[in-house]
Amino acid sequence: MDSKTLILALVPVILAGVFIHAVNAAIQQNSDGPRWWLAGTATHGIGLGLISLRGVVPDALGVVLGDMLAAGGFIIMLEGVARFAGGRVPRWQSGGLAALMVIGFPAFTWGLDSAALRFAVFGLGVIIPNLLMLPYLSVIGRRDGQPGVRLLRYTIYYFVASLAVICAGVLLFDPELPSVLAPNQMVAIGILSLTVVETNLVFGFVLLSAGHSASVLRRAALTDHLTGLPNRRAFEALVHRVFCEAATAGRQSALAVFDVDHFKRVNDTHGHDVGDAVLQHVAQVLNGEIRDTDHVARLGGEEFVALIHAGAQASVGEIADRVRQAVEDAPFVRDGQVIAITISAGLVAVNGDEPSLTRLFKRADEALYEAKGAGRNRVILAAA
Ligand code: GH3
Ligand code: MG
Ligand code: MG
Repeated sequence: MDSKTLILALVPVILAGVFIHAVNAAIQQNSDGPRWWLAGTATHGIGLGLISLRGVVPDALGVVLGDMLAAGGFIIMLEGVARFAGGRVPRWQSGGLAALMVIGFPAFTWGLDSAALRFAVFGLGVIIPNLLMLPYLSVIGRRDGQPGVRLLRYTIYYFVASLAVICAGVLLFDPELPSVLAPNQMVAIGILSLTVVETNLVFGFVLLSAGHSASVLRRAALTDHLTGLPNRRAFEALVHRVFCEAATAGRQSALAVFDVDHFKRVNDTHGHDVGDAVLQHVAQVLNGEIRDTDHVARLGGEEFVALIHAGAQASVGEIADRVRQAVEDAPFVRDGQVIAITISAGLVAVNGDEPSLTRLFKRADEALYEAKGAGRNRVILAAA
């Protein structure tokens, strides 16, 4: 089939992509990646449109500018992927690719007049930015999850492999090809396979956006807004996971509920905003004291919870008391004003045999109540 007609048929596919990207870019305000995907896709589409008009419009447009825009669109999409991942494409990379287009296409059109070599430059100009997307996709996958990343990664493999086969095929078997778009079955198959690539790229990028929105919401749903600590829901999910592992791990662990002593007084004396700042301060101290293998969360109000594991040197009771001491040793200071803070803790040992979290909380609360009754600023371990 006529290659120019095949390329023209790609234009509506890309136009649909432009619409989708435009809507997506308007929705996704938290990254400028989608705007670059829109610009890249539009640029790429205009390039293909010009290529399909080869012979009708001057070579400067149909060949040189068409090739430059069609391949250059991928450099712009690459920048979008980098920005979406929170980075930037290094200047030397985007500059080098741009130079390849700006020098390569005019040189091979008017200088060497080699369709096969121009095809090779076009192939490189497309393959390199697509390959450069892969490390950024890994970053995005770790942050937001895999669906969009996987689709894009497989599409890029497919794209690069098919381009490489076609470029090699043309260079090896038809190096005297009078024009890139001269009837050639290999080229026609290559153009047809582009339909798959164009469609998948649009869906892949949109899936990245959707994945990011979902991961932002997921994080927000599991984070305590005031302190940045995990919230109760996150803690419960995590404890459930740890319980499943702890059954085999066999080390002593405990659930500790910490409650700020006389916190109402802080609010009443200094105001609710200072109370909030005190909670943030306590959260910071707890987070600093709790080891990375242990977990701390805010239950709500002035109550925090931690899942602690005994170490080689310290029992769970000793670890909880070290945390309590750390809060006492770090009074809250604002505008030269010092507010002494203490916490009490109720501790309940956790053993492997499928404990009910509700029951554990209840027993820890009873121990906490005991600690309050016994004068506060202390840790009480619930009786076995
Ligand atoms: P105790 O030593 O017995 O624990 O006394 P307490 O005053 O700490 O306990 P109480 O339960 O009477 O008071 C807790 C206070 O915490 C009451 C509530 O207004 C306040 N509080 C709950 N959540 C927040 C919050 O997010 N910010 C602030 N500033 N205060 C909060
Ligand atoms: Mg309380
Ligand atoms: Mg309290």
